[in-house]
Amino acid sequence: MIKKETVFSAKPDREELRSDAALRPTTLLEFVGQDKVKENLGVFIEAARRRKESLDHCLFYSPPGLGKTTLAYILAREMGVNIKVTSGPVLSRPGDLAAMLTTELADGDILFIDEIHRLNAAVEESLYPVMEDFLFFINTGKGPGATTLKITTPRVTLVGATTRSGLLTGPLRDRFGIVFNLGFYGPAELQKIIARSAAILGVKATPEGIAEIASRSRGTPRIANRLLRRARDYAQVKGTGVIDPAITARAMEAMEIDAQGLDALDRRLLSVIADNFSGGPVGIDNLAVALSEEADTLTDVIEPFLIQAGFLQRTARGRVLTQNAYRHLGLNPPKQGTLMI
Ligand code: ADP
Repeated sequence: MIKKETVFSAKPDREELRSDAALRPTTLLEFVGQDKVKENLGVFIEAARRRKESLDHCLFYSPPGLGKTTLAYILAREMGVNIKVTSGPVLSRPGDLAAMLTTELADGDILFIDEIHRLNAAVEESLYPVMEDFLFFINTGKGPGATTLKITTPRVTLVGATTRSGLLTGPLRDRFGIVFNLGFYGPAELQKIIARSAAILGVKATPEGIAEIASRSRGTPRIANRLLRRARDYAQVKGTGVIDPAITARAMEAMEIDAQGLDALDRRLLSVIADNFSGGPVGIDNLAVALSEEADTLTDVIEPFLIQAGFLQRTARGRVLTQNAYRHLGLNPPKQGTLMI
């Protein structure tokens, strides 16, 4: 049975957590696309290695599934250091951070914090002196007897990942020496990623089959790999074992993913704006209520691709549908001029 709900989430599902490790590129050379980011990181890594220093703190921001975690692992490997992975919601007390720094990490190691915008204020503030001076302050006791203990931490590199850099507080953002935004991948890059993954998974795919998957992958490697696995299931159960455009189209139809990679929730979002809000502008909170979805999910996961693909515009007054979106939904666009495009 195909799990539709996991398609649009762009967050890893259980199967992916297992297979992600196998499909994840392990060197900068293997990492497809994001050429500017790779070039810069290559220079920073080489410079830090030559000076025998740890790498400056890095922040990666992008919608989910575009390679932030992968890059953190690659940095660790290329620097020849260990990486400890955690996330904003998991790191709930400053003491957890202190324990991790003092017992699990050594000089030069990488501490990767996913969803770093979700750190609570106490943990975030305890990170500042770590990032600046590799010092951790522990407050003990209360009232007049209160004292502050100062611990020297290993000289770790903090790598943070977030879906929007604007979600971070100014003081945290300013403490990252290296900040990169990862953009959506183009068709040729996605095809390369899918071909590589198909080879690793040992599944045969024609170039046309690969192109078909790429065109429905919403510019996102995680989704490309996910669709590849579903196309493989279809090819093996309903086809000849080879992924071609016809079997891919069947698998995508079963998942309600259309030719442009839009899934049921994407189309529902566009339809709701067309039907309930006359094409917009509509504020994100109203839209979230109408769709029974979290506003953050819409902003960080669903909208970025719809905007980039030219279906939606974000304006100061709210979200507005484009002519393209009306065409895609098979609806007549309102008269030219009433749309803000
Ligand atoms: P994020 O941390 O941004 O959510 P990940 O780094 O976990 O995304 O990437 C999701 C999956 O997509 C990875 O397991 C990897 O297999 C694949 N992937 C991401 N970026 C690339 C890339 N540039 N080249 C090849 N595969 C990639």
